[in-house]
Amino acid sequence: MITNRTFTIIKPDAVEAGSSGAILKMIEEAGFRIVAMRMTKLSPERAGEFYAVHKERPFYKGLCTYMSSGRIIAAILEKENAVADFRKLIGATDPALAEEGTIRKLFAKSIEANAIHGSDSDESAAIESNFFFAGMDIF
Ligand code: ATP
Ligand code: MG
Repeated sequence: MITNRTFTIIKPDAVEAGSSGAILKMIEEAGFRIVAMRMTKLSPERAGEFYAVHKERPFYKGLCTYMSSGRIIAAILEKENAVADFRKLIGATDPALAEEGTIRKLFAKSIEANAIHGSDSDESAAIESNFFFAGMDIF
């Protein structure tokens, strides 16, 4: 298990707002190296697969609609203690509760349209990276 990598998505609201450059700058300035990156758009079905752990939650259908509403940027990031440090950099799920200076505090519009995703464990990071980069060369 790789323990110095995490996986992120710049979500449709942030890409549409033209905030991806500013967000990637914050990520790099926080010491993360981008080791893979692609822009894509999910179908509602693919979005549902990605967030399958939430399928019993009341917000699941809205989440699938939102995550398939526009282009996203998926990336694999490398840093020591990547998963925990990245969750700290992005801040709480609800931007109203996110700490000052975090990506969600700066860029999220709501608890749903919250600008960015960060894996919650090394295991999730591996599964989610594979979801977007299976078969691609990662260096
Ligand atoms: P992510 O997995 O995207 O990094 P997270 O781990 O902070 O976010 P989760 O609980 O995994 O939060 O929720 C996944 C996503 O579902 C959230 O990022 C947000 O877009 C959406 N979401 C979570 N809770 C709610 C809610 N109460 N109402 C609407 N959308 C929600
Ligand atoms: Mg999560």
